[in-house]
Amino acid sequence: MATKYVYSFSGGKGEGNGKMKAELGGKGANLAEMCNIGLPVPAGFTIGTEVCNYYYANDRKYPPELKAQVEAALKEVEKVMGGEFGSKTNPLLFSCRSGARESMPGMMDTVLNIGMNDETVISLAKKSGDERFAWDSYRRFIQMYGDVVMGLKPQTKTDPDHFEELLEHKREKAGVKFDNELTAEQLKELVAEYKAVIKKHTGSEFPTDPMEQVWGCIGAVFSSWMNDRAIVYRRMYNIPHEWGTAVNVQAMVFGNLGDGCATGVGLTRDCAVGTPGFCGDYLINAQGEDVVAGIRTPLRIEETLGKDMPKAHAELDEIGKKLEKHFKEVQDVEFTIQEGRVWMLQTRNAKRTGFAAVRIAVDLVNEGLITEKEALQKRRIPADDLNQLLQPIFDTEAKKKATKENRAIAKGINAGPGAATGQIVFHASDAEALYNKDNNVQLILVRKETSPEDLRGMKVAKGILTAFGGASSHAALVSRQMGKVCIVGCGSLVVDYDKGTISSGGTTLKEGDWISIDGFTGEVFSGKVETKPSEIVQVLVQKTMKPEESETYTRYAQLMGWVDKYRKLKVRANAEQDEAHLADAFGCEGVGLCRTEHMFFSKIQEFREMIVSETKEQREKALAKLLPFQRADFTTLFKALGSRPVTIRLLDPPLHEFLSEHHLHDDDGLADRLSKAVGISKETVERRVEELKETNPMLGFRGCRLGIVFAEITAMQARAIFEAAADLKKQGVDVHPEVMVPLVGFKTELDHQTKIIRDTAEKVFAEKGVKVDYQVGTMIEIPRAALTAGEIAKTAEFFSFGTNDLTQTTLGMSRDDYGSFIPLYRENDVIGDDPFQKIDQTGVGRLMEIACKDGRATREKLKLGICGEHGGEPSSVMFCHKLGLDYVSCSPFRIPIAKLAAAQQALES
Ligand code: ADP
Ligand code: MG
Ligand code: MG
Repeated sequence: MATKYVYSFSGGKGEGNGKMKAELGGKGANLAEMCNIGLPVPAGFTIGTEVCNYYYANDRKYPPELKAQVEAALKEVEKVMGGEFGSKTNPLLFSCRSGARESMPGMMDTVLNIGMNDETVISLAKKSGDERFAWDSYRRFIQMYGDVVMGLKPQTKTDPDHFEELLEHKREKAGVKFDNELTAEQLKELVAEYKAVIKKHTGSEFPTDPMEQVWGCIGAVFSSWMNDRAIVYRRMYNIPHEWGTAVNVQAMVFGNLGDGCATGVGLTRDCAVGTPGFCGDYLINAQGEDVVAGIRTPLRIEETLGKDMPKAHAELDEIGKKLEKHFKEVQDVEFTIQEGRVWMLQTRNAKRTGFAAVRIAVDLVNEGLITEKEALQKRRIPADDLNQLLQPIFDTEAKKKATKENRAIAKGINAGPGAATGQIVFHASDAEALYNKDNNVQLILVRKETSPEDLRGMKVAKGILTAFGGASSHAALVSRQMGKVCIVGCGSLVVDYDKGTISSGGTTLKEGDWISIDGFTGEVFSGKVETKPSEIVQVLVQKTMKPEESETYTRYAQLMGWVDKYRKLKVRANAEQDEAHLADAFGCEGVGLCRTEHMFFSKIQEFREMIVSETKEQREKALAKLLPFQRADFTTLFKALGSRPVTIRLLDPPLHEFLSEHHLHDDDGLADRLSKAVGISKETVERRVEELKETNPMLGFRGCRLGIVFAEITAMQARAIFEAAADLKKQGVDVHPEVMVPLVGFKTELDHQTKIIRDTAEKVFAEKGVKVDYQVGTMIEIPRAALTAGEIAKTAEFFSFGTNDLTQTTLGMSRDDYGSFIPLYRENDVIGDDPFQKIDQTGVGRLMEIACKDGRATREKLKLGICGEHGGEPSSVMFCHKLGLDYVSCSPFRIPIAKLAAAQQALES
């Protein structure tokens, strides 16, 4: 049997279904699925993604069987729809639509009204009784065909857009503002002008044979898979090039057949903040792209469609409910209303902000559509998106003040929640350049509307503001996906790219001026507006809001309840005494990394005295001054954590970080103060500083090497830990310190340090007359430690993977200067993800796996954790679950994210 390349969907039955996204692309699979569940879908067929791969593997040729299969499918559509392609009496028109496995908004091309020519336009006019409609459809077809198939589409903003220029000229001449006001006669003229332009710029005639037209469109869709924009987009979103696109050929239905018709895009519930209810945009007497192109600002379904077309509105509402029930997900749909009748043209799971994602998942559970476990699925709430709930929002008082000062200059549609303040920039390329100069720059990208070329600029901006477009415009869609603060359709805003200004409500701002946008309400303010913490932070950390006062918090808490029920991995915090309350507020289950050196920054003079000391006596004198401070810091930390374990890392960084010639240079009296305090000469101070200098400090004198050479440092730190712990124990606090030795490569290093720690513990316990339960363990952050983990575990009671250093040492890449080549590596697909953000699972991960296995072979109960930055990154957390670690440790604000990722992995495996 010949390979099946073509799958039709017609007459209430699809040959494919919603599960076949790989074969049919998302659009094709769901068209078939909608057909199968009895929704009104114009008949058509899908050419599978396999053909796309064949096409590129065979010098842009099709498989030989394709032609006959397409022709047969076309015939079937004719039968079902009751028309004939290219007929002079009863013409049927088609659309040709791209459709990859995952949607790539605006990246690939679609052509509508295929089959129009000088003869069919006459018969369409007759059949519909609407001459204007027929010519409108014709001119649209030539325009799309000329752009997409014949290559006249402008590639950059400066390329001429021949068709739009002619159209604009025509409108001007006719004295009208919008296309739908042009008469049949004017459209007819336009058709002739369009054809002339094609001839002039391509040298070819516009093809009149409908079959030639269809094949031209199919070829163009397959070609668009490899256009530059699409390639860049796929790289950005990690979509493999091998997936390919499908092509959907579908009978046309018409939203431009008079005022009883419309075209629209909608969401079965709001995806910016998650409010229930069908919503979206529509345009009366319009076709396809008009509604997202941002030329005419569309109407809001939830506001006026019920009045304009009550029957269609009710039908749409029903369809929305049916879709949600069937897909168990919010849907993003495209539809056309032809003479009062709704036709569904597309449905897919809607992209949403993290904010909306939480609300929707929780609401769907509460409505009984999905289970708790389903609510936690990664595709519903990507763990990282929880971050959006913790972002600052505008301060209500500050907003009132700004309003009083007449700084509220405009209001648009809230498309991406959050607060963003930044400097106005108009062009994506400028935004990118500014960002490359300074990664901390705060920019708001302001545009009339955005297009796929603006993607890179949107990525580096804090927020996006557009004058045109609705909730389903490109800008809204992409910012939802990126989690950016965004306002669209800000009607009163006049953007003048030439002058580099925006004006609204009597205020004019120029490029570089500050502006603030509230993505919850759609309000735009000139200048900066102060922010305050998110409601969740107000409830949990500041306690300035009661839990029941915040709906956002209530839903978050419900979600986290499910998370805690299903996850296995424990989540600890990287925290010192000052962050302990934060870590506690976010529900940490211990501290996985307390960096003792952070405690020294507030006692820097005494610490420097220790550093410049020449003799053991001098050093011990300085350490004795530090002891009470350390003890106090540990006391605070232990108290906050109560019975939860606290891992304390002994001094780790190279000493020059605390005292270098720069410090001596910047602080004139420093050398004098140190020389007096320690009792050495100023020259000695300077010489000691000189001795500390290293060319490769990250691989130098640091970690346990310090504690081995200066054993008294380890002894002081251990004493501070155990004194604090013993005193608290006496007060009834059930403390569990875990002392962690950094940068171990040899078991003997750990033995050396462990002896000091244990001896000190015994001494302190004897002095205090109380014993404390504690452990001694090590970081695994040098490949040798991972490879000899079986040995090291004889001494270590726990391992904690320091994946920052382990990545540096395994890859031989220094984190401080890998920035010079990593971006190029990524652009050239040499490396996928940044290994310092996501664990390099094959390399670094392999070492971790060895260490876990060998370590536990020696010591069955060996406790395993991770404390590098990766501990709060979802894919790394999931990897840690798979390795069988006991916990991950991350910064306090990442705790909810790590917990969700842990639950997601637990549910997946
Ligand atoms: P995209 O992937 O860019 O959304 P589509 O293939 O979905 O492109 O087409 C864009 C729009 O064209 C649709 O939303 C719809 O309004 C219109 N369209 C496509 N096919 C048809 C059709 N058969 N009848 C009427 N309108 C159509
Ligand atoms: Mg679409
Ligand atoms: Mg380290």
